[in-house]
Amino acid sequence: MANSRGEPALAGGTAGHERLAELIPFALRGFARGAAERNGPAPSGGPAAVAAELAAVLPAGSVPAEGVGAERALTDLTALLAAGSVDPADPWCAAHLHCPPLAVSVAADVVAAALNPSMDSWDQAPVASELEREFTGALARVCFPDETAPDAVVTSGGTESNLLGLLLAREHAPGRRVVPVCGTNAHHSVARAAWVLGLPAPVVVACDGDRLRPDALAEALAALTEPAVVVATAGTTNTGEIDPLAEIAVVCRAAGAQLHVDAAYGGMALFSPAHAELLAGLSEADSVALDMHKFGWQPVAAGLLACRDATRLEALNVRAEYLNADDDTEAGLPDLLGRSIRTSRRPDAFRMAVTFHALGHRELGRLVAHCCDTATEVAEDVAADPGLRLWAAPSLSTVLFRPRVSDEVVVRIRRTLLEAGTAVLGRATMPTGPGGADQVWLKLTLLNPAATAADYRPLLDLVGRTAAEMAAAGEERVLS
Ligand SMILES: *Cc1c(COP(=O)(O)O)cnc(C)c1O
Repeated sequence: MANSRGEPALAGGTAGHERLAELIPFALRGFARGAAERNGPAPSGGPAAVAAELAAVLPAGSVPAEGVGAERALTDLTALLAAGSVDPADPWCAAHLHCPPLAVSVAADVVAAALNPSMDSWDQAPVASELEREFTGALARVCFPDETAPDAVVTSGGTESNLLGLLLAREHAPGRRVVPVCGTNAHHSVARAAWVLGLPAPVVVACDGDRLRPDALAEALAALTEPAVVVATAGTTNTGEIDPLAEIAVVCRAAGAQLHVDAAYGGMALFSPAHAELLAGLSEADSVALDMHKFGWQPVAAGLLACRDATRLEALNVRAEYLNADDDTEAGLPDLLGRSIRTSRRPDAFRMAVTFHALGHRELGRLVAHCCDTATEVAEDVAADPGLRLWAAPSLSTVLFRPRVSDEVVVRIRRTLLEAGTAVLGRATMPTGPGGADQVWLKLTLLNPAATAADYRPLLDLVGRTAAEMAAAGEERVLS
């Protein structure tokens, strides 16, 4: 869109809000049309159908020479996006730690995007950087309430937080060499971080259920001749289990090992009085990964890395004359470059801060508790269904269940419901078969604060029915 002089319409400036007010209705019209067309948690027809929808709107193979204009582009492509997306706001979209964002956060992000603060220097983000400092400091004090100078930095999520956690551990180790040690339950990004950082592959320690065993950890640390960094998990990806953090902290201290806690999933449970106890020992860690794009209901990305002692982060300091020249820093311009391993960086803390300001931590904690309570009720419904098996009572908001059929049928149920656009279920492989053999479980990761257990009863029935039909069809094939 151009103004009367043919200039492109900008989102900022004193008239930016007027241009946005003109354009956003077109985007919302497409959003409404696409969502109505999808009419469920996921598009139906699988990858081929989605690709065909895209091809019907956009000519394949090249970028267009001439544009269609902002109004049409926004209407057509937002409709395409809404129709062809899975929507975590639908209770039956529950595969991953993929949350339905709060409207207040998304609204805040519109203005953040319009002003486009970039968090790498004060002259690109004066108040946004100040607000980020306030917000990260406050969250660090929640993780480390008894410390005098904790601090946190914003990351793109658990993956970057784990990378930074291991990087800072390496920088604090004598000889700058550490061996990562984690449970079999650790997120894959831990091994990847070790790989990126040139550290040895993690020593992997046995779990009990899906929780790291402190006795096995002590044994593994005793066998090491080099300094170690232990990565514990608070909210595992497969089951939402929380490692025994307090016991792990004692083992680490006795062995002189550093401790990083990956609380990307479970960390926000600190705000639920009924669940905070599960995280006892978290404040003993040297660093903690938190994701507000899980519990926290932010659009991606909204990660944090909190450190018990702010000086730990000094390892990230770096000079670039055009961004933080010594004379600028001496004259009082805050030096932001050491707050990330990225350079240009979105003001993700803005919408997180708006969300906390709007809801308060009590309400956020209540939403966490609601999701966990819903998971407990859903698990009870699973346990009461003779056609289904329950993995275990949930610690957070993840429910693993499986119909009493073969693994082959279990994975086929998941794909069938996904392709039909009926439900988006996750999967997890756990050593629960005869003799500890691996078995595939269906996974519900419940992050929808507006859903209740009643929303999932028909889904459990549908899975049971589908399993019975598939098993019966399989038998017929065998018989015929
Ligand atoms: C989600 C998650 C990660 C990865 O975080 P991203 O935000 O996807 O980078 C790492 N560890 C755990 C335990 C997680 O739940």
